[in-house]
Amino acid sequence: MFIEENYVLLSHNTFGVVAKARWFIAYTDEQDLRKILADEYFRSLPVFHIGGGSNLLFISDYEGIILHSGIKDTEVVKEDEEFVYLKAGAGMLWDDLVHDTVCRAWGGLENLSGIPGEVGAAAIQNIGAYGCEAKDVITEISAYDMQTGEKQTIPCVECAYAYRDSIFKKAWKGRFIITHVTFRLSKKPHYRLEYANLQNFFAGKEINLKMIRETIIALRAAKLPDPKVLGNAGSFFMNPCLSKTCYERLKKSYPDMPCYPVNQGEVKIPAAWLIEQCGLKGFQQGNAAVYDKQALVLVNKGNATGEEIVRLAEKVQESVKNKFRIDLHPEVIYLP
Ligand SMILES: Cc1cc2nc3c(=O)[nH]c(=O)nc-3n(C[C@H](O)[C@H](O)[C@H](O)COP(=O)(O)OP(=O)(O)OC[C@H]3O[C@@H](n4cnc5c(N)ncnc54)[C@H](O)[C@@H]3O)c2cc1C
Repeated sequence: MFIEENYVLLSHNTFGVVAKARWFIAYTDEQDLRKILADEYFRSLPVFHIGGGSNLLFISDYEGIILHSGIKDTEVVKEDEEFVYLKAGAGMLWDDLVHDTVCRAWGGLENLSGIPGEVGAAAIQNIGAYGCEAKDVITEISAYDMQTGEKQTIPCVECAYAYRDSIFKKAWKGRFIITHVTFRLSKKPHYRLEYANLQNFFAGKEINLKMIRETIIALRAAKLPDPKVLGNAGSFFMNPCLSKTCYERLKKSYPDMPCYPVNQGEVKIPAAWLIEQCGLKGFQQGNAAVYDKQALVLVNKGNATGEEIVRLAEKVQESVKNKFRIDLHPEVIYLP
């Protein structure tokens, strides 16, 4: 177990913002985690469990405990003719897990290749890309309840999964520490290539999981900034959902406004399009900017503070609201 006071979190947030935690505790196994949960001093302070910090924005120092998991084991817990049920430690890097499953020719995670962060957070966030979401393959979650200190197994159906959302972000916010996530992976190929015309990349070729993974990684690299080069947390805002009636009304003024169907009565509008229409693509304010190749991403141009990035986000929200009467909600979590 690693414990340090006044710990600098620079390498624990992909925005590259300088912030300190009063305490930083990195545990490597469940035994250590149980000790931490039973500790009275620990229980007296605010606690935030961090993953890879790729969806967070530290606005100031954190006057409590930042916890981090080093649980990285994987285990096949069940197997039949069609599926493998793989249980993976919450502290494992998400993309290492994807790489591992693709190498073993187990399908299900390949479209989620290249997403930063760790396995535990993927289950909290319901990460998604290229037409797939983590919820499509999660079967259950093992977690400690911070209120009781007891371990629980939570089936996927109880997680209230939705677009970038789960019960862990709402009613159970901050309550559970995830130790493992179990995925149902397919032994037989069921490729999902409908989104963004992925199939065009493989025309005339015999497809396999490795090709899909490599193509998606290349597509992502062309669109998104590498946090090691330019601090960012991926999509800063969620794509807003509108009623079809509202969309039809707006379309009269903005005939080019794109949309994707959500259900019979609702559509999703790409937030990047809305931001671009406000003329903000590439816009810089202080040390923070709207990424010039993808308006949904806010970037740290060097030494930006969390507050500077929040001010830029507010400017974007205000502009979109004034022009379209649409509220943009951050996908990124502000701390504290
Ligand atoms: C360049 C880039 C591209 C991205 N692309 C995508 C994308 O395509 N699709 C997508 O969905 N997201 C994307 N993201 C966002 C981000 O990668 C995901 O949200 C990811 O799941 C965050 O993982 P993390 O480990 O960094 O979590 P953090 O940002 O550290 O934390 C996220 C949340 O998870 C909680 N958490 C973390 N670990 C645990 C645990 N063990 N127990 C309980 N709670 C925990 C935290 O408390 C917090 O609420 C991108 C980010 C970047 C920087």
